[in-house]
Amino acid sequence: MSEIVQVSEAARAMRDAGHDVIALSTGEPDFPTPPHVVEAAHRAAVNGDTNYTPTGGTAKLRATVAEGAGVEPANVVISTGAKQSIANAMLATLDPGDEVVMPVPFWTSYADIVRMAGGVPVLVDCPMEAGFRLTPAQLETAITSRTRWLMLNAPSNPSGAVYSAEDYAGLAEVLERHPHVWIMADEIYEHLSFVPFVSFRETVPGLRDRTLVINGVSKAYSMTGWRVGWGIGPAPLIKAMTAVQGQVTSGGSSISQAAAVAALTGDQSLLAERNAAMKARRDRVVAALDAMPGVSCLVPDGAFYAFPNIEGAIKAGGFDEDGVFCKALLEAEALALVPGRAFGMPGHLRLSFAYADALLDEGLARMGRFVAGLGA
Ligand code: PMP
Repeated sequence: MSEIVQVSEAARAMRDAGHDVIALSTGEPDFPTPPHVVEAAHRAAVNGDTNYTPTGGTAKLRATVAEGAGVEPANVVISTGAKQSIANAMLATLDPGDEVVMPVPFWTSYADIVRMAGGVPVLVDCPMEAGFRLTPAQLETAITSRTRWLMLNAPSNPSGAVYSAEDYAGLAEVLERHPHVWIMADEIYEHLSFVPFVSFRETVPGLRDRTLVINGVSKAYSMTGWRVGWGIGPAPLIKAMTAVQGQVTSGGSSISQAAAVAALTGDQSLLAERNAAMKARRDRVVAALDAMPGVSCLVPDGAFYAFPNIEGAIKAGGFDEDGVFCKALLEAEALALVPGRAFGMPGHLRLSFAYADALLDEGLARMGRFVAGLGA
């Protein structure tokens, strides 16, 4: 079980025991799925769109995603969530012992998926002082003859870091010298970028024949439970990923895919509105965190997480590490946050700000009280 799920379950157990728990621990927007999307799903169900779907996705959704990315449907596979496309790619391509380079901090599932597929995660520390970003020199050092993939994720879960076009050009220059390394660019938080979004595939066209883009409707359209995501890449890779999917889940839900088409083709103004709301929350949260002794926060440029360094507070409280800190915080103040070690970077914690202001304010007040009591 992932550490994020463990935190959520501990919070739920406390809530069931009658405590007033605030959990700022999950990675999903608190906005509802847009009504026109729900209506499209209802229509699909009522109209009998309830059969097995083609393994790689319904023709309509594949065509819609392909058109948006300027590729052919053969370059697109629709999965049961973006996570499944990531897993499909690793299962389809990794031989035992193959290495996958990933900047730390990383989304918890990356390392677990790579291990499940027989690969070896190669973790490259990208600390807060470096903006949580991988440098070309670090990439060069991490690549070996066994490297199969570089996994990039921007905006990042958990750090909120993004890469500029120049950053990507620097990494691309290294990758050009290592043609055996493929690139997975997880852009699931594309529409939740607070600076102009930079797509790896568009910025580095020379590497398209070995770039896999991961995206989906979960975060942008508040559709986490609908389970629709996709991969965009070279046709032979997409074919191999589709073959894996065919033996694991078959094609994704017909109703959810009809809903995803409605999300992608309907009114897009909600994206900007929700982005602006998240940005305001970000500012609120970062200011409050930065005011706490022993806590310092880099301003996240995207996604909906703050990933502050809490080493000062850990030390002041005499805690062994961030996991113990988060456990004590949950017990003392009934506030659930995820320790940085879950993302490969101890000494931090992740706070999701995809919550209403009142909830954020109360959560931050609890954390502030807890930290102040440590006497840093
Ligand atoms: N990539 C990242 C970086 C994520 O944070 C998440 C969701 N937490 C996913 C992929 C998976 O998205 P989905 O729910 O569509 O499977």
